[in-house]
Amino acid sequence: HRGASGYLPEHTLPAVTLAHAMGADYIEQDVILSKDDVPVVVHDISIESISDVAKRFPERKRADGRFYAVDFTLAELKQLRVTERFNPATGKAIYPNRFPIWQSAFAIPTLEEELQLIQGLNKTTGRSTGVYPEIKAPAWHRRQGKDISRIVLGVLARYGYRTRSDAFYLQCFDFDEVKRIRRELGFQGRMIQLIGANSDAESATDYDRMRTRQGLEEVAAVADGIGPATNQVVTGKREGKLQITDLVKNAHALGLEVHPYTFRADALPAYAASLEEQFSIFFLEAQVDGVFTDQADRGVAFLRAKFPATYPAK
Ligand code: CA
Repeated sequence: HRGASGYLPEHTLPAVTLAHAMGADYIEQDVILSKDDVPVVVHDISIESISDVAKRFPERKRADGRFYAVDFTLAELKQLRVTERFNPATGKAIYPNRFPIWQSAFAIPTLEEELQLIQGLNKTTGRSTGVYPEIKAPAWHRRQGKDISRIVLGVLARYGYRTRSDAFYLQCFDFDEVKRIRRELGFQGRMIQLIGANSDAESATDYDRMRTRQGLEEVAAVADGIGPATNQVVTGKREGKLQITDLVKNAHALGLEVHPYTFRADALPAYAASLEEQFSIFFLEAQVDGVFTDQADRGVAFLRAKFPATYPAK
Protein backbone atom coordinates (compact mmCIF):
# COMPACT_ATOMS: atom_id res chain seq x y z
CA HIS A 1 0.00 0.00 0.00
CA ARG A 2 1.73 3.16 -1.34
CA GLY A 3 5.09 1.33 -1.06
CA ALA A 4 6.38 0.54 2.44
CA SER A 5 4.39 3.53 3.65
CA GLY A 6 4.55 2.49 7.30
CA TYR A 7 8.30 3.13 7.22
CA LEU A 8 8.99 5.86 4.64
CA PRO A 9 6.91 8.68 3.10
CA GLU A 10 4.18 7.10 0.92
CA HIS A 11 4.74 6.68 -2.81
CA THR A 12 8.37 7.85 -2.74
CA LEU A 13 10.92 5.77 -4.62
CA PRO A 14 12.71 4.82 -1.36
CA ALA A 15 9.35 3.51 -0.04
CA VAL A 16 8.97 1.48 -3.24
CA THR A 17 12.50 0.10 -2.94
CA LEU A 18 11.89 -0.92 0.66
CA ALA A 19 8.57 -2.63 -0.16
CA HIS A 20 10.37 -4.55 -2.90
CA ALA A 21 13.13 -5.60 -0.50
CA MET A 22 10.53 -6.68 2.05
CA GLY A 23 9.14 -9.14 -0.48
CA ALA A 24 5.79 -7.55 -1.30
CA ASP A 25 4.11 -9.49 -4.12
CA TYR A 26 2.71 -6.29 -5.64
CA ILE A 27 3.49 -2.63 -5.04
CA GLU A 28 0.69 -0.09 -5.33
CA GLN A 29 0.75 3.16 -7.34
CA ASP A 30 -1.97 5.82 -7.01
CA VAL A 31 -1.83 7.68 -10.30
CA ILE A 32 -2.86 11.25 -11.13
CA LEU A 33 -1.86 13.58 -14.00
CA SER A 34 0.33 16.68 -14.11
CA LYS A 35 -0.69 19.76 -16.10
CA ASP A 36 1.39 18.46 -19.03
CA ASP A 37 -0.34 15.05 -18.90
CA VAL A 38 2.43 13.07 -17.20
CA PRO A 39 1.16 10.32 -14.86
CA VAL A 40 2.69 10.83 -11.41
CA VAL A 41 2.38 8.65 -8.31
CA VAL A 42 0.54 10.61 -5.64
CA HIS A 43 -2.44 9.57 -3.52
CA ASP A 44 -4.65 12.68 -3.65
CA ILE A 45 -5.50 15.04 -6.50
CA SER A 46 -4.21 17.86 -4.27
CA ILE A 47 -0.71 17.83 -2.85
CA GLU A 48 -0.59 20.15 0.18
CA SER A 49 -0.65 17.20 2.62
CA ILE A 50 2.55 15.56 1.35
CA SER A 51 4.72 18.41 0.05
CA ASP A 52 5.94 21.98 0.54
CA VAL A 53 3.75 23.24 -2.34
CA ALA A 54 2.02 25.85 -0.13
CA LYS A 55 5.40 27.37 0.70
CA ARG A 56 6.97 27.13 -2.76
CA PHE A 57 3.97 28.19 -4.87
CA PRO A 58 1.66 30.06 -2.44
CA GLU A 59 -0.16 31.90 -5.23
CA ARG A 60 -1.14 28.69 -7.03
CA LYS A 61 -3.95 27.55 -4.74
CA ARG A 62 -7.49 27.34 -6.06
CA ALA A 63 -10.47 29.13 -4.48
CA ASP A 64 -11.00 26.16 -2.13
CA GLY A 65 -7.51 26.69 -0.69
CA ARG A 66 -6.11 23.48 -2.16
CA PHE A 67 -3.17 22.93 -4.50
CA TYR A 68 -4.02 20.53 -7.33
CA ALA A 69 -1.28 18.55 -9.04
CA VAL A 70 -3.05 19.09 -12.36
CA ASP A 71 -2.23 22.83 -12.11
CA PHE A 72 1.52 22.11 -12.08
CA THR A 73 3.81 20.89 -14.84
CA LEU A 74 6.01 17.89 -14.14
CA ALA A 75 9.03 20.25 -13.93
CA GLU A 76 7.23 22.19 -11.19
CA LEU A 77 6.10 19.06 -9.32
CA LYS A 78 9.71 17.87 -9.37
CA GLN A 79 10.79 21.03 -7.49
CA LEU A 80 8.61 20.09 -4.52
CA ARG A 81 9.98 18.57 -1.37
CA VAL A 82 7.90 15.55 -0.34
CA THR A 83 7.43 14.43 3.24
CA GLU A 84 5.48 12.10 5.49
CA ARG A 85 1.74 12.86 5.27
CA PHE A 86 0.65 15.73 7.53
CA ASN A 87 -2.36 17.88 8.28
CA PRO A 88 -1.77 21.21 6.47
CA ALA A 89 -3.95 23.06 9.01
CA THR A 90 -1.80 22.04 11.97
CA GLY A 91 1.48 20.98 10.36
CA LYS A 92 1.34 17.76 12.43
CA ALA A 93 2.02 14.26 11.07
CA ILE A 94 -1.05 12.05 10.52
CA TYR A 95 0.80 8.99 11.91
CA PRO A 96 3.08 10.40 14.63
CA ASN A 97 5.17 7.24 15.00
CA ARG A 98 6.12 7.06 11.35
CA PHE A 99 9.02 8.65 9.44
CA PRO A 100 9.70 12.17 10.82
CA ILE A 101 8.21 14.96 8.74
CA TRP A 102 10.54 17.27 6.77
CA GLN A 103 13.44 14.89 7.26
CA SER A 104 15.79 13.73 4.48
CA ALA A 105 15.02 14.30 0.77
CA PHE A 106 12.06 12.88 -1.17
CA ALA A 107 10.35 13.79 -4.45
CA ILE A 108 7.22 12.96 -6.46
CA PRO A 109 7.94 10.08 -8.87
CA THR A 110 6.44 9.67 -12.29
CA LEU A 111 4.67 6.37 -13.00
CA GLU A 112 7.39 5.57 -15.53
CA GLU A 113 10.19 6.16 -13.03
CA GLU A 114 8.49 3.82 -10.60
CA LEU A 115 7.89 1.08 -13.18
CA GLN A 116 11.54 1.36 -14.24
CA LEU A 117 12.64 1.08 -10.61
CA ILE A 118 10.54 -2.04 -9.92
CA GLN A 119 11.59 -3.71 -13.18
CA GLY A 120 15.23 -2.85 -12.46
CA LEU A 121 14.99 -4.34 -8.98
CA ASN A 122 13.29 -7.42 -10.40
CA LYS A 123 16.28 -7.83 -12.70
CA THR A 124 18.94 -7.38 -10.01
CA THR A 125 17.19 -9.48 -7.34
CA GLY A 126 15.63 -12.17 -9.52
CA ARG A 127 12.21 -11.39 -8.06
CA SER A 128 9.04 -10.84 -10.06
CA THR A 129 7.30 -8.21 -7.95
CA GLY A 130 4.16 -6.95 -9.65
CA VAL A 131 2.56 -3.51 -9.81
CA TYR A 132 -0.91 -2.45 -8.74
CA PRO A 133 -1.74 0.98 -10.22
CA GLU A 134 -4.94 2.83 -9.34
CA ILE A 135 -6.59 5.28 -11.72
CA LYS A 136 -7.51 8.15 -9.40
CA ALA A 137 -10.59 10.33 -9.85
CA PRO A 138 -11.20 9.75 -13.59
CA ALA A 139 -14.39 11.87 -13.63
CA TRP A 140 -12.54 14.76 -11.99
CA HIS A 141 -9.69 14.45 -14.50
CA ARG A 142 -12.25 14.51 -17.32
CA ARG A 143 -13.63 17.78 -15.96
CA GLN A 144 -10.06 19.14 -16.22
CA GLY A 145 -10.05 18.05 -19.87
CA LYS A 146 -7.92 14.93 -19.33
CA ASP A 147 -8.46 11.26 -20.12
CA ILE A 148 -6.31 9.75 -17.38
CA SER A 149 -7.19 6.12 -18.12
CA ARG A 150 -6.12 6.28 -21.75
CA ILE A 151 -2.80 7.90 -20.80
CA VAL A 152 -2.05 5.47 -17.96
CA LEU A 153 -2.94 2.40 -20.05
CA GLY A 154 -0.51 3.65 -22.69
CA VAL A 155 2.37 3.87 -20.20
CA LEU A 156 1.53 0.47 -18.69
CA ALA A 157 1.44 -1.17 -22.13
CA ARG A 158 4.85 0.30 -23.01
CA TYR A 159 6.30 -1.37 -19.92
CA GLY A 160 4.77 -4.75 -20.72
CA TYR A 161 1.65 -4.58 -18.54
CA ARG A 162 -1.11 -5.56 -20.95
CA THR A 163 -2.71 -8.95 -20.33
CA ARG A 164 -3.97 -11.13 -17.49
CA SER A 165 -0.69 -13.04 -17.51
CA ASP A 166 1.36 -9.88 -16.84
CA ALA A 167 2.23 -9.20 -13.18
CA PHE A 168 -0.20 -6.42 -12.44
CA TYR A 169 -3.69 -5.43 -11.40
CA LEU A 170 -5.36 -2.17 -12.38
CA GLN A 171 -7.73 -0.71 -9.78
CA CYS A 172 -10.33 2.05 -9.72
CA PHE A 173 -13.21 3.20 -7.49
CA ASP A 174 -15.34 4.54 -10.35
CA PHE A 175 -17.50 1.74 -11.79
CA ASP A 176 -18.44 3.71 -14.91
CA GLU A 177 -14.73 4.06 -15.62
CA VAL A 178 -14.00 0.38 -14.93
CA LYS A 179 -16.66 -0.53 -17.51
CA ARG A 180 -15.27 2.04 -19.93
CA ILE A 181 -11.67 0.76 -19.47
CA ARG A 182 -12.79 -2.77 -20.31
CA ARG A 183 -15.35 -2.10 -23.04
CA GLU A 184 -14.27 1.13 -24.70
CA LEU A 185 -10.51 1.16 -24.13
CA GLY A 186 -10.20 -2.60 -24.67
CA PHE A 187 -8.13 -3.30 -21.56
CA GLN A 188 -7.02 -6.97 -21.36
CA GLY A 189 -5.32 -7.08 -17.95
CA ARG A 190 -6.70 -7.96 -14.52
CA MET A 191 -8.85 -5.27 -12.98
CA ILE A 192 -10.01 -4.71 -9.41
CA GLN A 193 -13.17 -2.73 -8.66
CA LEU A 194 -12.58 -0.82 -5.42
CA ILE A 195 -15.57 -0.48 -3.11
CA GLY A 196 -15.83 2.66 -1.02
CA ALA A 197 -18.50 4.15 1.20
CA ASN A 198 -21.26 6.23 -0.38
CA SER A 199 -20.69 8.82 2.35
CA ASP A 200 -17.10 9.43 1.10
CA ALA A 201 -18.36 10.55 -2.33
CA GLU A 202 -15.29 8.92 -3.87
CA SER A 203 -17.21 8.68 -7.17
CA ALA A 204 -20.81 8.61 -8.43
CA THR A 205 -20.82 4.81 -7.96
CA ASP A 206 -23.44 3.39 -5.56
CA TYR A 207 -21.30 1.14 -3.35
CA ASP A 208 -24.21 -0.10 -1.23
CA ARG A 209 -25.83 -1.53 -4.33
CA MET A 210 -22.48 -2.85 -5.58
CA ARG A 211 -22.18 -5.10 -2.52
CA THR A 212 -25.50 -6.84 -3.25
CA ARG A 213 -25.62 -10.08 -5.22
CA GLN A 214 -26.80 -8.26 -8.36
CA GLY A 215 -24.25 -5.49 -7.94
CA LEU A 216 -21.42 -8.03 -7.66
CA GLU A 217 -22.68 -9.84 -10.75
CA GLU A 218 -22.35 -6.61 -12.72
CA VAL A 219 -18.84 -6.14 -11.36
CA ALA A 220 -17.91 -9.72 -12.30
CA ALA A 221 -18.88 -8.99 -15.91
CA VAL A 222 -15.94 -6.58 -16.28
CA ALA A 223 -13.58 -6.97 -13.30
CA ASP A 224 -11.46 -9.81 -11.88
CA GLY A 225 -11.86 -8.89 -8.27
CA ILE A 226 -12.96 -6.40 -5.68
CA GLY A 227 -11.08 -4.19 -3.23
CA PRO A 228 -13.47 -3.55 -0.34
CA ALA A 229 -12.77 -1.55 2.80
CA THR A 230 -11.88 -3.82 5.74
CA ASN A 231 -15.09 -2.82 7.56
CA GLN A 232 -17.16 -4.17 4.65
CA VAL A 233 -15.69 -7.63 5.36
CA VAL A 234 -15.50 -7.60 9.17
CA THR A 235 -17.92 -5.25 10.87
CA GLY A 236 -16.68 -5.85 14.42
CA LYS A 237 -17.17 -8.17 17.35
CA ARG A 238 -20.48 -8.86 19.10
CA GLU A 239 -20.56 -10.79 22.40
CA GLY A 240 -17.03 -11.98 21.67
CA LYS A 241 -17.92 -13.23 18.20
CA LEU A 242 -16.45 -11.77 15.01
CA GLN A 243 -19.02 -10.37 12.61
CA ILE A 244 -17.96 -11.41 9.09
CA THR A 245 -20.17 -10.33 6.20
CA ASP A 246 -21.09 -12.50 3.19
CA LEU A 247 -19.14 -10.23 0.84
CA VAL A 248 -16.09 -12.51 0.37
CA LYS A 249 -18.26 -15.62 -0.02
CA ASN A 250 -20.54 -13.93 -2.56
CA ALA A 251 -17.58 -12.51 -4.49
CA HIS A 252 -15.82 -15.89 -4.59
CA ALA A 253 -19.00 -17.54 -5.86
CA LEU A 254 -18.75 -15.22 -8.87
CA GLY A 255 -15.05 -15.94 -9.38
CA LEU A 256 -13.94 -12.58 -8.03
CA GLU A 257 -10.72 -12.19 -6.00
CA VAL A 258 -10.96 -10.09 -2.84
CA HIS A 259 -8.19 -7.71 -1.73
CA PRO A 260 -9.35 -5.47 1.14
CA TYR A 261 -7.72 -2.18 2.18
CA THR A 262 -6.02 -0.96 4.41
CA PHE A 263 -4.08 -2.88 7.08
CA ARG A 264 -2.10 -0.55 9.33
CA ALA A 265 -0.23 -1.56 12.48
CA ASP A 266 -0.77 1.93 13.91
CA ALA A 267 -4.50 2.19 13.07
CA LEU A 268 -5.95 -1.17 14.14
CA PRO A 269 -9.70 -1.84 14.40
CA ALA A 270 -11.07 -2.49 17.90
CA TYR A 271 -11.55 -6.23 17.21
CA ALA A 272 -7.82 -6.92 16.63
CA ALA A 273 -5.05 -6.48 19.20
CA SER A 274 -2.27 -6.69 16.59
CA LEU A 275 -1.74 -6.48 12.86
CA GLU A 276 -1.05 -10.21 12.83
CA GLU A 277 -4.40 -10.89 14.52
CA GLN A 278 -6.12 -8.78 11.88
CA PHE A 279 -4.28 -10.66 9.09
CA SER A 280 -5.32 -13.93 10.73
CA ILE A 281 -8.98 -12.89 10.84
CA PHE A 282 -8.96 -11.84 7.19
CA PHE A 283 -6.88 -14.61 5.63
CA LEU A 284 -7.92 -17.58 7.79
CA GLU A 285 -11.51 -16.76 8.75
CA ALA A 286 -12.82 -14.34 6.11
CA GLN A 287 -10.70 -16.11 3.42
CA VAL A 288 -9.55 -13.05 1.48
CA ASP A 289 -7.02 -13.49 -1.34
CA GLY A 290 -4.71 -10.56 -0.58
CA VAL A 291 -4.48 -7.34 1.41
CA PHE A 292 -3.24 -3.80 1.04
CA THR A 293 -0.92 -3.10 3.99
CA ASP A 294 1.39 -0.29 5.07
CA GLN A 295 3.60 -2.96 6.69
CA ALA A 296 4.49 -5.27 3.79
CA ASP A 297 7.20 -7.01 5.82
CA ARG A 298 4.67 -8.20 8.39
CA GLY A 299 2.21 -9.29 5.71
CA VAL A 300 4.90 -11.36 4.00
CA ALA A 301 6.06 -12.86 7.33
CA PHE A 302 2.46 -13.78 8.20
CA LEU A 303 1.82 -15.53 4.88
CA ARG A 304 5.16 -17.38 4.96
CA ALA A 305 4.37 -18.68 8.45
CA LYS A 306 0.77 -19.68 7.74
CA PHE A 307 1.07 -20.99 4.20
CA PRO A 308 4.64 -22.37 3.95
CA ALA A 309 3.73 -24.83 1.21
CA THR A 310 2.05 -22.40 -1.16
CA TYR A 311 3.53 -18.99 -0.35
CA PRO A 312 5.16 -17.32 -2.10
CA ALA A 313 3.30 -18.50 -5.19
CA LYS A 314 5.66 -19.29 -8.06
CA1 CA B 1 -4.98 3.43 -3.73
